[in-house]
Amino acid sequence: LSGEKENLSNAEKEIERALRPLTFSDFTGQHKILENLKIFVQAARMRGDALDHVLLHGPPGLGKTTLSHIVANELGSGIKITSGPVLDKPSDLAGLLTNLQEHDVLFIDEIHRLNPIVEEYLYSAMEDYKIDIMLDSGPNARSIQIGLNPFTLIGATTRAGMLTSPLRARFGINARLEYYDAQLLSTILKRSAAILGTPLDEDAAFEIARRSRGTPRISNNLLRRTRDFAQVKGNGKITVAIAEMALQALDVDQNGLDEMDNRILSTIVEKFKGGPVGLSTIATACGEEAETIEEVYEPFLIQEGYLKRTSRGREVTEKAFRHLGILPRHRSGE
Ligand code: ATP
Repeated sequence: LSGEKENLSNAEKEIERALRPLTFSDFTGQHKILENLKIFVQAARMRGDALDHVLLHGPPGLGKTTLSHIVANELGSGIKITSGPVLDKPSDLAGLLTNLQEHDVLFIDEIHRLNPIVEEYLYSAMEDYKIDIMLDSGPNARSIQIGLNPFTLIGATTRAGMLTSPLRARFGINARLEYYDAQLLSTILKRSAAILGTPLDEDAAFEIARRSRGTPRISNNLLRRTRDFAQVKGNGKITVAIAEMALQALDVDQNGLDEMDNRILSTIVEKFKGGPVGLSTIATACGEEAETIEEVYEPFLIQEGYLKRTSRGREVTEKAFRHLGILPRHRSGE
């Protein structure tokens, strides 16, 4: 249930597609980003230009992919989708770029994980809509320049800090997606429930929303699972009692922290006296990848005030001690 993409069955992929907003007006939240994007899209259309390149960053599951589809839709353009780690060689990128129609969107997820050689090719593509392709190698090596149709690159990343500065400088539009508050997630849940044809009580929507780690993808996942509970344990309607039963069964606690959030906090408290402790040590002790902790769990725990980053490592806060039901005075082993 974390913000990461799951391995979904075909039926669930179908649901995922049905729940994905397709236009600016379907998209809830991220108000400032949306208002700006609407202007930029409209201006590009009025001038008959490609939209400037867009960098979207923020934790997983907040709608970067969704927004990219919406931008392409609103531009009346096509979209091609790929991701940083998939683009192994310059020829992979060249293949994609030369197939773009005028004003199409190329979406590169996890753009911070581009191979540096591929990234270099991207520079001239982004700047001048041109790429140099090497023909042959050794003494016969020569390069030819190919012109591309004007296009928009939308790069998505959970780690804006890991982008090289030449790449970052080539994005004219840079937007950071924020976690959603419970009210917005409640609106998203009601929309999703209506699409799925599942009756959802107002207070049940709010209960799921406030325990969704600020993330629409998690709200939608929890909705699908609560719907199962409503079907088997109730009469199909999601009431607050059904929602609470499902959330408890899914190990989402009263404050909306999931099993891994709690494991991270209790590990730091129990094994490292509350910290400070290094990320890789926490990762080993929790049996989770350091990268996942850093990208998925930690940003939320920090934003909610359970965890702090200090120069000496990660440290839990008083709020974390209270959450775990441990008195902070135990911290120094008293
Ligand atoms: P990742 O970077 O991991 O791909 P993401 O930020 O691109 O994550 P999306 O895949 O766009 O996230 O969104 C996850 C799910 O949440 C989608 O299925 C989408 O339906 C839903 N969703 C995201 N944002 C919104 C929103 N603002 N309104 C309604 N639904 C949303």
